[in-house]
Amino acid sequence: MKLKKGDKVVVLSGKDKGKQGEILVAMPKSGKLIISGVNVATKHQKPRSAQEQGGRIETETPIYACKVQLVCPKCGKATRVGHQILDDGSKTRVCKHCSEVI
Ligand SMILES: [Zn+2]
Repeated sequence: MKLKKGDKVVVLSGKDKGKQGEILVAMPKSGKLIISGVNVATKHQKPRSAQEQGGRIETETPIYACKVQLVCPKCGKATRVGHQILDDGSKTRVCKHCSEVI
């Protein structure tokens, strides 16, 4: 998976199409991501103890990574991610628009 925690992404399809958020959790094995403010499910919770408050709890649920695209922090565009090998042999991600290292 080309995306990782902390990346800013935009949703390409589904009910949250066009929304932007930051990746909170990346799950490479299942190819899913949890993104802040995206695919929020509302659960109705009853108080289980005196300290706990009941009510609506909003939690982000995972969506498939193929439904989102990375937003380049340098040029601000939704972009495909390229890879570049640096002189020291390390691999970096680059923006296909502005060629900046992400
Ligand atoms: Zn860019």
